[in-house]
Amino acid sequence: MTTELLKINKDSLKKAAELIKQGQIVAFPTETVYGLGADVFNENAVKSIFVAKGRPDDNPLIVHVAKKEDIKKVAREIPLSAQLLIDKFMPGPITIVLPKRKEIPDCVTGNMDTVGIRIPEHIGAREFIEACGCPIPAPSANSSGKPSPTSAMHVFDDLEGKIPLILDGGDCDKGVESTVISLCTKTPLLLRPGVITYEMLTDVLGKVDIHPSVLNDGLVDKAASPGMKYKHYSPKARVIIVDAPVDTACRFYDFALKNNKKPIIIWKEEELENVLNRKCISLYKNSDTLIAAKNLFNILRQVDKDGFDTVFITSVPTSDAGLSVMNRMLRASAFTVIDKNTDENKLKTILQLN
Ligand code: AMP
Ligand code: MG
Repeated sequence: MTTELLKINKDSLKKAAELIKQGQIVAFPTETVYGLGADVFNENAVKSIFVAKGRPDDNPLIVHVAKKEDIKKVAREIPLSAQLLIDKFMPGPITIVLPKRKEIPDCVTGNMDTVGIRIPEHIGAREFIEACGCPIPAPSANSSGKPSPTSAMHVFDDLEGKIPLILDGGDCDKGVESTVISLCTKTPLLLRPGVITYEMLTDVLGKVDIHPSVLNDGLVDKAASPGMKYKHYSPKARVIIVDAPVDTACRFYDFALKNNKKPIIIWKEEELENVLNRKCISLYKNSDTLIAAKNLFNILRQVDKDGFDTVFITSVPTSDAGLSVMNRMLRASAFTVIDKNTDENKLKTILQLN
């Protein structure tokens, strides 16, 4: 199959909607990351999303709708807590998990009785959903396990030959996937942090629990969110989080280089001058973790393209958007965090030099 890459406009939107109506799948831009959509009522089309991505079929898809009135076509009930979030944050980079209507096929939700629902803020995304005339289940438009795509080229790199069309809306504004919050539990439960932050959620809802897997390793119970148990966001390079000043990262870098690795340091812009002639990229500056969120996946893809095999990346504070950045970095690194006390033996094991 040839994969067309078209700028998003009236003509390409029409073509995309026709493809969806014929049971095909189409990649489209949103403000978070690119999505890969199908007609929610066409089970074969939904299944071909999982095939194109290589996604395990118990990992539920988020169902996208264009306007607030359409939420009740997907959800069986809308509790007050959900209504508060809808009023405050939708359209926007947030997914609310609610009881599912029986009309929504089980293959969309990994056989669960709940469904994640989102209204993108991106105008092109909403025009696409509107033109299709049905809710659009869509995961991120990457190969399963890879960093999520924040540009049309990222989608092309992963899915060329596997999907007929990518709508190109330029670079994604937010860069990390939507916040996912379940309102099916007694206390609202944050399943995946995003740029609608924990602090913003508690302002509206009062108490919100954070699922333990957000910052911790280990198997997640199936009921909460199956998707969270899978390896995620990993480039080919070995990612290592450094929770220490930049001179410690330089010491690890030099050790890796001496052992024939191709390392790179990803750090705060303000401290990069201390890296001297070592290879490095800026993750963010002015303590603005929204910038780190926007850059992270693009940088992880770029290091692979540039042939680096070892990434020393700074930890970030876990307040505000920083929580979403640490959540993604921890998964990209398979929860590998080192600090100034990490000795050479431990580093050797991490770099597989033994
Ligand atoms: P992705 O589409 O790749 O951004 O992944 C969507 C993620 O949203 C899944 O991996 C889950 O973590 C979460 N999600 C979607 N639907 C549900 C649901 N019904 N219950 C819990 N989590 C969900
Ligand atoms: Mg994804």
